[in-house]
Order: sequence, then C-alpha cells, then structure tokens
Amino acid sequence: MDYPGNLFVVAAPSGAGKSSLVKALLELDSHVQPSVSHTTRAPRGQEKHGREYFFVSGSEFDAMVANDAFVEWAHVHNQRYGTSKKAIEERMAQGADVILEIDFQGALQIKNIFSNAVCIFILPPSWDELRARLERRGEDAPDIIELRMKNAQAEVIHADKFDFVIINELFDRALFDLKAIVHSQRLKFSAQRRARAETFKALHIP
Ligand code: GDP
Ligand code: ADP
Ligand code: 5GP
Repeated sequence: MDYPGNLFVVAAPSGAGKSSLVKALLELDSHVQPSVSHTTRAPRGQEKHGREYFFVSGSEFDAMVANDAFVEWAHVHNQRYGTSKKAIEERMAQGADVILEIDFQGALQIKNIFSNAVCIFILPPSWDELRARLERRGEDAPDIIELRMKNAQAEVIHADKFDFVIINELFDRALFDLKAIVHSQRLKFSAQRRARAETFKALHIP
C-alpha cells in the first residue's frame, strides 16, 4: 500500500522517553497525527480515555481481535495493546503523517504490512538512567517497574531491525534527532515532487 502520508513507528523500552518525545513533536508539528491505541491496562493518573489510549476490558479486546479490527496487536507487560485499522487508515488516506508509539513486536508487524513505514527505536543512555526515569515518573508500582526493567533487556536486542536509533540522553538533542528523521522523509524525491508540483513542472522535471 502506498499512502501519500508517512507512517512513523516509535518503539522503546518503557521509560526511555518515547511519550515525552512524541508529545513534544506533536506540539511542534501539526502535520503529524498520533494513532490512539487500545489497551487492556488501567489508566494512569492523568490519562483520559480516547486521548492516550482507548481503555478496554479483556473481552472488548477479544471482540476486536475476532472482528479483525487491529492492524497489529501484542502482549506487552502482561497486558494487550493494539493499533486499530481505524486509528491509522483514515488519517493516512488524508495525507497526514501518522505516528505510532508501540512496542517492538507491533513495530515489526507494521513494517511487514507497510514496507514504507519509518521505524525508530529510542534507547535510554544507560540501565541506571532508565530505572531512575521509571521511578521518577512515579506512575508504576515497584513490581511493575521490575517487570518493565526486565522486559527492557529483551526489547533493546531488537533495535537492529529498526531504520533509525535515537539515544535519549539530553531531551532537546533527542527531539532534534526525531524532527530530523521526520523532516528527511519530506525531502524524498517522491514527496517533494508531490508537495512542490508547480516548481517541478516549471523546471520540466517529469
Ligand atoms: P506521561 O505520559 O504522563 O509519563 O508524561 P510525560 O512523560 O510526557 O511527561 C512527564 C513530565 O516530565 C512532564 O511534565 C514533562 O514536561 C516532563 N519532562 C519530559 N521530558 C523531560 C526531560 O527531559 N527533563 C525533565 N526534567 N522533564 C521532562
Ligand atoms: P515512555 O513513554 O518511553 O515510557 P516517558 O516519556 O513517560 O517514557 O518518560 C519516562 C520519564 O523520563 C518521564 O518522567 C519523563 O519526563 C522522563 N524523561 C524523558 N526523557 C528524558 C530525558 N532525556 N532526560 C531526563 N528525563 C527524561
Ligand atoms: P505503556 O503502558 O507504558 O503506555 O506502554 C507499554 C508498552 O506498550 C510500550 O512499549 C508501548 O509502546 C506499547 N504499546 C502501546 N500501544 C501499543 C499498540 O497499539 N500496539 C503495540 N503492539 N504495542 C503498544
């Protein structure tokens, strides 16, 4: 499938700073739209149904799987998370750039379906810093933090399957890197020819 918009997929171990980076990108770039996932986990403090996630029960999730409503879904940290077809297809067809914040299993499923997807892996600068961020965020109980730290070791092994890697040490530097990746896709020949059709025509470039 060759949609006019770009599909960006961001994966990272929990606490690496994926949500903070994507949120900052969305504030700076209105052409990028988030995909809102469905999850069986409970909402955290400030999270709102339909904004961070659609929070659903296990049986609601089962029904969506049975109805083939997901482009991808995966078991993550003892919960299930999925990207609905609805969450991305309409936006992409309208030419928007869509960004998915999903785990590496989902990212690899998306890459199989949309070969043009741009997959970005975000790494923490160290294990100590990852733990410090999870603790500082203060949203997860100690046993959940342990599970996320343990899972993180298995997740980072898959960074080699991604197109780009960002090490989120200094936040502003990591945001600059993310913006650069988004911008580079818009400078591709095919994207420029579409966006700057008049210029290409005037220059007689087919
Ligand atoms: P969450 O989705 O609820 O975890 O929210 P975020 O992780 O996006 O942000 C949590 C808070 O951390 C917000 O107040 C952010 O502005 C802040 N924050 C994000 N990145 C950084 C950073 O690099 N350094 C510091 N000091 N604060 C940050
Ligand atoms: P994720 O979405 O990957 O689970 P978050 O975006 O929630 O991670 O970030 C985890 C915690 O680390 C948050 O409290 C966030 O404010 C903080 N954080 C993110 N990036 C940095 C950074 N470069 N330096 C210090 N703290 C950061
Ligand atoms: P959290 O509970 O911290 O928001 O997310 C936990 C993990 O689930 C993260 O790795 C996140 O990227 C992943 N995740 C969130 N939404 C989706 C989704 O729609 N599909 C998949 N496969 N993973 C998701």
